[in-house]
Amino acid sequence: MKFGCHVSIVGKIYLAVERAVARGCETMQIFSGNPRGWKNPDILDEDIKEFNLRRKKAGIDPLVIHMPYLINLGSSDVDIHSKSVVAMLNAIERAKKLNAYYLVFHPGSHRGTGRKNGLKKVAKSLESLIPMIDGEMKILLENTAGSGFSLGSTFEELSIILNELNWDNRLGICLDTCHAYAAGYDISTKEGLSDVLRKLDERIGLDKLFLIHANDSKFPLNSHVDRHAGIGKGYIGTEGFKKIVNHSALKSLPCILETPHVNEKDDMYNLNLIKNMREES
Ligand SMILES: [Zn+2]
Ligand SMILES: [Zn+2]
Repeated sequence: MKFGCHVSIVGKIYLAVERAVARGCETMQIFSGNPRGWKNPDILDEDIKEFNLRRKKAGIDPLVIHMPYLINLGSSDVDIHSKSVVAMLNAIERAKKLNAYYLVFHPGSHRGTGRKNGLKKVAKSLESLIPMIDGEMKILLENTAGSGFSLGSTFEELSIILNELNWDNRLGICLDTCHAYAAGYDISTKEGLSDVLRKLDERIGLDKLFLIHANDSKFPLNSHVDRHAGIGKGYIGTEGFKKIVNHSALKSLPCILETPHVNEKDDMYNLNLIKNMREES
């Protein structure tokens, strides 16, 4: 596994690379723009050039872009839905310029209009977006903790979206360990992990899994609460992560940490911890 952190793009976008280097990242994730707002100021071409140059020099790869949390492709609110599609379009354009491999998003929420409806809506929206993707880039659906009306907490729901789009090879899955655990998938034990990966393989296919988000869970199994903990500091635990990191089906995937941090030292601590779990094969 290649490990990295989610790093901030505050200031100039290319400073994200410096932050990733300082933390010891081998791969990295950034937000495409403002994570909690709709407005995304244009990034200067020269800043993009600088970003690409610095990342190449640092040898950090792949680059993952995470969509803002406001995005809801499953929304039946016309305004929110159209804003979400535009934000996705902008993010795809940006991802292309930054040579990102993966664009990750949460499937969103149906807000009471029904699961089936919501999933259909997400699929329909993606249908209009995937033609914009070229090369090796992929849009990844991230599994969610499944609180309230949120979509995509089960492999079944994710597979419904992918199936609607005929398993298009520009789409894939990002598995967040905290979300999976909170949604009831017990990946904290060896047997549990094998069982969950078997289910994932049956429903979706392990060949559709491109990225891991490694976060421990502050809340118990099946709690449906999305609250990340530092590696080994939650219910998945150190032993759980050792199994995840070295599992034959996962160990060649890039892995991003979204663990709580006050400063960069916390990221460095978690990153070192998980890097040291890698066993020689
Ligand atoms: Zn995540
Ligand atoms: Zn989360």
